[in-house]
Amino acid sequence: MDLPKLAIAALGGTVSMQARHASEGVIPTVSGETLLASIPELTLLAEVSIETLGLLPSASLDFGFLLNVLSWANFQIKQGAIGVVITQGTDTLEETATFFDYLWDHDAPLILTGAMRSAVQAGADGPANLLDACRVALASSSRQRGVQVVMNGQIHSASAVRKTDSLALQAFSSPIVGPVGLLVEDSVRYLRPPVPRNVLPLPVQTTQRIALLEASLSADSLLLENIVGLGYAGLVIAGFGAGHVSVNWAERIETIAQKIPVIVATRTGSGATARSTYGFDGGEIDLTRKGALMAGFLCPRKARILLWLLVGCHRQDELAKHVSHT
Ligand code: ASP
Repeated sequence: MDLPKLAIAALGGTVSMQARHASEGVIPTVSGETLLASIPELTLLAEVSIETLGLLPSASLDFGFLLNVLSWANFQIKQGAIGVVITQGTDTLEETATFFDYLWDHDAPLILTGAMRSAVQAGADGPANLLDACRVALASSSRQRGVQVVMNGQIHSASAVRKTDSLALQAFSSPIVGPVGLLVEDSVRYLRPPVPRNVLPLPVQTTQRIALLEASLSADSLLLENIVGLGYAGLVIAGFGAGHVSVNWAERIETIAQKIPVIVATRTGSGATARSTYGFDGGEIDLTRKGALMAGFLCPRKARILLWLLVGCHRQDELAKHVSHT
């Protein structure tokens, strides 16, 4: 019987890390082929092709590299893969998942995974996460769900997932909505049906800079004053509470929003920005009046990726359409 085709790419991260010498820290050196050898049972489930596209800590991935990975993944689907799995570092997984999800124009699943413990640590979670990710990528119930993150027996949608713990095995969560599915024994169980997706065109320019600044108590406004002069094409603010800033920042934001798109998200890590509750200067009503857009449920980092992609395809005017308040 012909097995379904599955394509896997390794980009680096803890899942690919080990120490060259016992006295040194771990670094990404483990190839995709070696990762694959840790889950021999996969050969019974799929005809697998695997490539090592990078050996990077995920903090050093960038949008240009991700666009190359995306075109590799598109090619795999064209060649008959029914799903694609990418392994990478977990530190930026919530951002890469969002980036790919906005651009993934297939019904077939694209699944991202990684590990919290390197291959040399007791209880390494890389092999289990990779096998789970492959099972999810092979499941017909994963179709039309875009990009998902599989970690620690849970499936998270790209739009909701966040890294919410620095070192714990249970490092990923989807605040408010929870995981979209689970791995139960060997089977993939979804808790919710797929939702319609909004796919963007590929960026035609990639040099745009989008700044992300976090509001903090008694912060000065020097960086804000210089954002436009420095050539930034957009600004995301991780605001206090429901999307608020100081009076000082609000005044600067009014000037900036006349020149470039400004989006205000919440720095709290969970929940949406408000729209019509607070009337003080620097509150959401004031900021909206001053030309900023409230991010709704989009977290600051995901908002920055959306803005980068929209500016990249000259569609920044559509920003409001992509921001969800529900
Ligand atoms: N701690 C990280 C990881 O989980 C390192 C990285 O993001 O590359 O992979």
